[in-house]
Amino acid sequence: MLFQKNNFQKAAQHENGINRRLFLAYVSALYSIPTIGWTANVNRRMKFAINPFSIGVASGDANSTSVVLWTRLAPKPLDPDGGMPNVGVPVQWRLATDEGMNNVVASGQQLATPQLGHSIHVTAGQLKPDTWYWYQFSVNGEESVVGRTRTMPPRFSNPKQLSFAAASCQSLEQGYYTAYDRMAEDELDIIFHLGDYIYEYTAGNQGNIRKHHGGEIESLSDYRVRHAQYKLDPALQKVHARCPWFVTWDDHEVDNNCAAEISEQKNVKPVDFLIRRAAAYQAFYENMPLRRTSIPAGPNLQLYRRGAFGQLAEFMVLDGRQYRSDQPNNDVRSPLNDAAFNPESSMLGSEQRNWLKQSLIQSRGTWNILAQQVMMGMVGMPSGDIPMSYSMDQWPGYTHERMELLRFMADRKISNPVVLTGDIHSNWANELRIDDRKMDTPAVAAEFVGTSISSAGDGQDRIADHNKLLSNNPFIKFHNRQRGYFRCTVTQKTWTTDYMVVDKVTTPGGKVTKRTSLVLENGSPTLQQT
Ligand code: FE
Ligand code: CA
Repeated sequence: MLFQKNNFQKAAQHENGINRRLFLAYVSALYSIPTIGWTANVNRRMKFAINPFSIGVASGDANSTSVVLWTRLAPKPLDPDGGMPNVGVPVQWRLATDEGMNNVVASGQQLATPQLGHSIHVTAGQLKPDTWYWYQFSVNGEESVVGRTRTMPPRFSNPKQLSFAAASCQSLEQGYYTAYDRMAEDELDIIFHLGDYIYEYTAGNQGNIRKHHGGEIESLSDYRVRHAQYKLDPALQKVHARCPWFVTWDDHEVDNNCAAEISEQKNVKPVDFLIRRAAAYQAFYENMPLRRTSIPAGPNLQLYRRGAFGQLAEFMVLDGRQYRSDQPNNDVRSPLNDAAFNPESSMLGSEQRNWLKQSLIQSRGTWNILAQQVMMGMVGMPSGDIPMSYSMDQWPGYTHERMELLRFMADRKISNPVVLTGDIHSNWANELRIDDRKMDTPAVAAEFVGTSISSAGDGQDRIADHNKLLSNNPFIKFHNRQRGYFRCTVTQKTWTTDYMVVDKVTTPGGKVTKRTSLVLENGSPTLQQT
């Protein structure tokens, strides 16, 4: 881990969200952990018996002139050290304008260090805007596959069309990645991952389609191995190599339903949870195509950020886990009571909320995309004796902040806000109002909630209470409980979302079909089903 003194200082500057006493407790707890020294040793001639690019390549966080190229050396990806010795190894990279890698326009070398799990995060810069590129890594005669990536259109241009897909929730134990096989056939400019990229559970806890390696993950090497096990999937590797991704996380990248320094398990001390979180965040950085601004500093990692596709769309990628206050009402489905309306509660934390508002005001995007974790629609369902209950882990647990944000969008006339959501293993298309219970008020934004890639196994088109769900919540314009993903085609005039569903994920070779499409017109958050 990055438990060096200069990183303590760096972490101290970033203590945003964690109170000072807790932060100091965290730092002193670290001294009981043996630190990994910085490598003095570099092995330039390391010979590999097995190709070390076993978990593939990826690119991400593209802007109009640069993109992050990622890989990790792991000849034995399920070994705690990935099969790598405790030395640095220089890795070469090349970027070309053709798939055959003949016309190389940029190249270089970066040291893969044991401190960062032998991961490589190259920022390939000074590139042409709105251009497709291919890239490849090599080390001492071993080569990676060739990945494809692209830059975004110039900042002030008006591109005709943006095509993207969104994925979430890919439990390896509960299903095959048939959805990704299909996604790899789509012509997409970018892909958003909205969280639950891995699950932290012990082997066999969720299913037995493909068993997790090892127990519940807690240490840095545990998290590294889990990420590597997921990335061994060939369909996932294929989609990573297709285009740049913009990733965020949800809870399972660390621990189910965690909130800032608070574990789901009530007996875990915040200081101990922060040590686990630091391990989880570091492994996340190491395994994702993130910019160096996201290098973790102790238990903190800067993940919320902006992106743009010319002036057609701007996107704000949110982090709804790192700074949130604890779920109210013991995280049990509850009515929208005072605790859910507590003005002190926050999903984003004040810094991120202010940044989001500023980003929305400054945006030149026709469409303003919020790529984030949990459902914003205030979906009420009867639960036990409660006539109408709401999820406290989702935005209704933070109703005050949610309403303030929707009111802000309405007051400031933010251009076409569209929320992208994962987390709940089901498809939803929602019209969002300041208060979704008041259908006579104007809609402010649209929300597309995408189902899981594999989590929760085969699913079904509809639940028994489907009609009741929709009549209780008339702002829901579509709901389905199969696996899959959604893809969006965005132009100046219209936004079209296709819900792609898989009939079976518990066996390979499931059939993927377009279940339905919903359309938005520029200027109106009203959803039309085609
Ligand atoms: Fe999930
Ligand atoms: Ca989740």
